[in-house]
Amino acid sequence: MGADGIENRCLEIVENLPVGVYETDPEGRVIYANAAMVQLFGYESIAELTEGSVQDLYVYPAQREELLRTARENGKVEKMELWLTKKDGTFFWCSCTLRARRDEAGNIVSLQGCLIDITSEVRVRRERQVMQNLLLRKNKELEELSVKDQLTGLSNRRRLEEVLQEKLKMHHRYANKTSIVFLDIDHFKLINDTYGHGAGDKVLRHLAQILKNNCRDLDVVARYGGEEFCVVCPETEIVGALKLAERLREQVALNLKCEDRGVTISIGVAEICREDTLDGILKKADDALYKAKNSGRNKVCVWEELTAEEIAVTKTKRENGNGKKKD
Ligand code: GH3
Ligand code: MG
Ligand code: MG
Repeated sequence: MGADGIENRCLEIVENLPVGVYETDPEGRVIYANAAMVQLFGYESIAELTEGSVQDLYVYPAQREELLRTARENGKVEKMELWLTKKDGTFFWCSCTLRARRDEAGNIVSLQGCLIDITSEVRVRRERQVMQNLLLRKNKELEELSVKDQLTGLSNRRRLEEVLQEKLKMHHRYANKTSIVFLDIDHFKLINDTYGHGAGDKVLRHLAQILKNNCRDLDVVARYGGEEFCVVCPETEIVGALKLAERLREQVALNLKCEDRGVTISIGVAEICREDTLDGILKKADDALYKAKNSGRNKVCVWEELTAEEIAVTKTKRENGNGKKKD
């Protein structure tokens, strides 16, 4: 078989390939397009396709510029994804691979390449991306929910303990000052008993709002459980925490109401010390809170070493159900 025969057969192969094969001149005129290429763009004939410039086939002209720049710089383009337009105006995605044919002086004389329709692949990829984003968002929402108190929207006990553990570490390593303000609504059971659980819940939500409004952004305000709340104050010494506690007590006494009845809180304040553990620091604040309860409620007390006598009194009161009780 002569050279002419091979050429013809090669052309026949290219003509019948199921992918779009083409050649354009440097100005973007289509010199050659096989049948699949014509079909890809929805034209009736090669003549119809070669009439216009390839420029008109791009949805984003910037993609063509990038394609030409890459072809100039690398002599070829591999699997570049292009968004193109069909004759009827619909858009589709193609993967383009081409090589630049040059003359002896190195000037590009034509671009020879092939186009494969990857619209369904792109669609699946996008759908997967949307699903992944949705999953990420849902995971984030779940993560947030898992550390949030449902009733008040504050941090929950789990989050509080995480934050405290972190602050304890920071204190042990860098001696950072952190104080905690632990508070409990006075005679809350009476509120529930008198006005109902719903009214009690409303008081809890209003209290959460007052706490939020009076704390710094960096403070972590948490509902420890029941009608007990805790504020973790980073970079705050006991004196600062005491001021905050007094402000909270005052604001609550002034603003928190259930029907016409005023509601108050008792507060215990403690600062993280070198040897403290999670349970240790919470117990210190809790002990201070008991003191506030025992000294008449609507009070702020700071933790300090209790005498043996005070410990005995507190213990007896707890056992008798006076003062503050654990829920
Ligand atoms: P004290 O001044 O000593 O703190 O007395 P208290 O009545 O506040 O304390 P006590 O521990 O006797 O009662 C706490 C009450 O808080 C009992 C419990 O039913 C109620 N409580 C706990 N969680 C919730 C809640 O989510 N909503 C409502 N409405 N009440 C709750
Ligand atoms: Mg209480
Ligand atoms: Mg309580």
